[in-house]
Amino acid sequence: MDERERRRRKRKIQVYTMRFLTALAAVGILTLLILAGVGIVRLIRGRARETMAVSDEDMEVLNGLKEQMKGKEFTLILDAGHGGNDVGTGSPDYYEKDINMDIVKEMKEMLEYCGVEVALTRDGDETVTLDERSSFANDSEGDRFVSIHCNYCEEDASVAGLECYYWADSMIGESYAREIVSAVEGSGQIAVRGIKTEDFHVLRETKIPAVLVETGYISNKEDRENLYDAEYQKTLSVYLVKGIIEGYLHSVQDMPSE
Ligand SMILES: [Zn+2]
Repeated sequence: MDERERRRRKRKIQVYTMRFLTALAAVGILTLLILAGVGIVRLIRGRARETMAVSDEDMEVLNGLKEQMKGKEFTLILDAGHGGNDVGTGSPDYYEKDINMDIVKEMKEMLEYCGVEVALTRDGDETVTLDERSSFANDSEGDRFVSIHCNYCEEDASVAGLECYYWADSMIGESYAREIVSAVEGSGQIAVRGIKTEDFHVLRETKIPAVLVETGYISNKEDRENLYDAEYQKTLSVYLVKGIIEGYLHSVQDMPSE
């Protein structure tokens, strides 16, 4: 082999090596792009699923409510009980104020999906007095006021189930509480104790029809495990939203026109 032939071969090898490396780099970049694309899609999908991740059955309920809300207006004042310095009942691993807030956030998103305007008395972990809550409702354009709480029974750990309270003199409040409880009961997945009257500040001082939902008893093992569970909170929220929307729409329907 002469010198020229050797040089030619060397150049050829260099050219092939360069081509190979370029192809390898291209494949590498392409793979990275595909992985990044898949990652972004997963992230977006994950977010959507995280926020409104309800079962198909629950989604059907919400879509039915959305349909009923078409062309209607409804503003709800939604009150997450306690907050800030006032932790409510429960224990430091999950205070009542935080459970209430988690449920309220689920409900807000579902209500807005259905076309309900929602105003919250607190948006985060803030201390809000009872006076501030009722004043907020009275200064608002709200149609209904719903307060979310968890109960506790020191004497008897077997006491369990959701209760809905209304102001004894309010007929609209009573029928509203009844509708909410029957919607929750209709889910077949949530233990219900029924409707009750109580002299709660937010029921007494709020001018618009108001109810207070004690979602369950933290003092009861089963209720506590349920209330601590994000999936249960979602299902509970779906059926509270159902009662809140249908109860309102029925009361407006039944009202004599002026
Ligand atoms: Zn409470």
